[in-house]
Amino acid sequence: MSRWCIPLRRSRLSTAEASQLQSLADCLAEWGGHFDSGPDRPWWQLDPTHGFTVKGCYDRLRRGILSAPLACGSPLRIWRLKIPMKIKVFMWLLAKERLLTRDRAKWRSDSPVECGLCGEAPESIDHLFSQCRVTSAFWRKVCSATSLAPFHSLQEMWEANEALRIRSASRHARHVSSLIIPAGTWVIWRTRNDAVFNNTSIYVENMWEFMALLVRD
Ligand SMILES: [Zn+2]
Repeated sequence: MSRWCIPLRRSRLSTAEASQLQSLADCLAEWGGHFDSGPDRPWWQLDPTHGFTVKGCYDRLRRGILSAPLACGSPLRIWRLKIPMKIKVFMWLLAKERLLTRDRAKWRSDSPVECGLCGEAPESIDHLFSQCRVTSAFWRKVCSATSLAPFHSLQEMWEANEALRIRSASRHARHVSSLIIPAGTWVIWRTRNDAVFNNTSIYVENMWEFMALLVRD
């Protein structure tokens, strides 16, 4: 008797699915535990004794467990910033270096690896947000219009952000300065995504205007 043999495997994942798969792989790698043959059971890593409670989670949030330490060691208080939640989540992924840049999607053999902005170097988080030719021109404009110190790496970017915050004399100045890096990096990411997925042209002047709009709002 002949048997059915139907290939059910899809040829490729969508961008959203690839991102979810990468996040899962990152979670498993971060967990560092091991699988055994016992039954599955829920586990709340932040409080193994009492498990998950809203109060416990809130306490942890207030104590900064979920806002620090970041991969870059930045004391940036992402969750306290007065910015839209989607940008907070984006900043969190950036700080944890979990954004799906092209170097992290290289397991898809048909994916290009060049930077979505300049197309001249492999796209990594460090390249895209601090070293790229387009990004550098954009940050030069930002630095000349604000008190943000120039930087050449992601680590230096967080340090420049923190130095700016410390130098800010008033509460209002601290608030404004705290928006510069979130707004600038969000503009870079949105511009990159528009260029990659919608094939839009890239103009530093447009990036600057977009950023000014974000900070004003
Ligand atoms: Zn580039």
